[in-house]
Amino acid sequence: MSNLISAVADMTGQRDRDLLEVTVAEVLFSLLDARRLSLWKVIEHPQGARVRLMAGLSRGQAVAMSDPAVEHEMLPRLDEFDGFCACFATHAPMRMATPDTGGERHVFPVGTAREAVGILEVDVDGEMTTTQEQLIDGLLRIYRNHLTLLDYSENDTLTGLLNRRTFEDVFARRISRQSLADEMSRHIEYVGQRRIPSAGETPWLAVIDIDFFKRVNDRFGHLFGDEVLLLVARIMRSVFRPHDVLFRFGGEEFVVLLSATNAAGARVAVERLRATVEAYAFPQVGQVTISIGFTCVSPEDSPIGAFERGDDALYLAKQLGRNRALCWEELIESGELTPKVAPASEIELF
Ligand code: GH3
Ligand code: MG
Ligand code: MG
Repeated sequence: MSNLISAVADMTGQRDRDLLEVTVAEVLFSLLDARRLSLWKVIEHPQGARVRLMAGLSRGQAVAMSDPAVEHEMLPRLDEFDGFCACFATHAPMRMATPDTGGERHVFPVGTAREAVGILEVDVDGEMTTTQEQLIDGLLRIYRNHLTLLDYSENDTLTGLLNRRTFEDVFARRISRQSLADEMSRHIEYVGQRRIPSAGETPWLAVIDIDFFKRVNDRFGHLFGDEVLLLVARIMRSVFRPHDVLFRFGGEEFVVLLSATNAAGARVAVERLRATVEAYAFPQVGQVTISIGFTCVSPEDSPIGAFERGDDALYLAKQLGRNRALCWEELIESGELTPKVAPASEIELF
């Protein structure tokens, strides 16, 4: 019983999503004494849903997971796995025999209050007992409640992107994190397709603001304005990489933390967004454009410092006619912007 309570405390104490899934899988794996256990995230995709392995455990093996940076289309398909499609579609557990081990495989849907988000796959020796089934059911419910609470406190309700409150924490983790394995001090093995990281990728920050958004609201009303925000967020999800972090910062302003090798690489990413939004036909509203300011993030950066540089570049993009993306470092080099110097009083204080 005390094992169970401590397992629940571990699960609900974890606020970092990447670590949460591993914690949940480890808790279930040890309490069930499973032969093998995998927690998958299901990702909707136009060419058929994909699955990302968030944590895979087998006795005596390292924790396995999909490379977090790998593109969605490189991931295995939901229908490649026995029982996954049926389980996901019907929200009902599936059971099948595993003749090679003489045991059973069980597949359970994992969801938040809003939607089914994943699949839990458990192999046990022999038949699964009622106690094991009850344990899984109970822990998945606790996990779902915890996810729903996290969702509520960290995600913007309209677009589902992370909200401004989470920015400082995510920023700090993003620039300091060597790798998930280091942070968890566990051995993690990436499985399946890998994304070969380009040498010397660093974090970049982009501040994005919709042009003349007030006019959209004034001409078409708030509901259509909200629809534009929702669609811009959806376009952002589709053009940036799975590993990039997207925030709605408030109103019609968004922030993205992405990885790039240099200014040209970051420009390709933000230009793709700018051009995709420009070409999109928004229902009723028609064309909408966005302006973007972006900047390189250094390990010494504060979240607010990096944001202000992006925002300064964005301000200039607005002044120069909107529907463009400008890089802060290039603007400094060309003399179009001058770096802000902290007031003397502040320098004296520190
Ligand atoms: P600019 O090109 O200079 O950015 O012009 P703009 O009109 O986009 O800028 P401004 O900041 O003046 O207007 C932003 C508007 O965004 C004001 C507000 O009515 C609207 N807005 C803020 N939050 C929301 C929201 O959640 N939904 C809707 N529909 N509108 C919002
Ligand atoms: Mg605007
Ligand atoms: Mg604005």
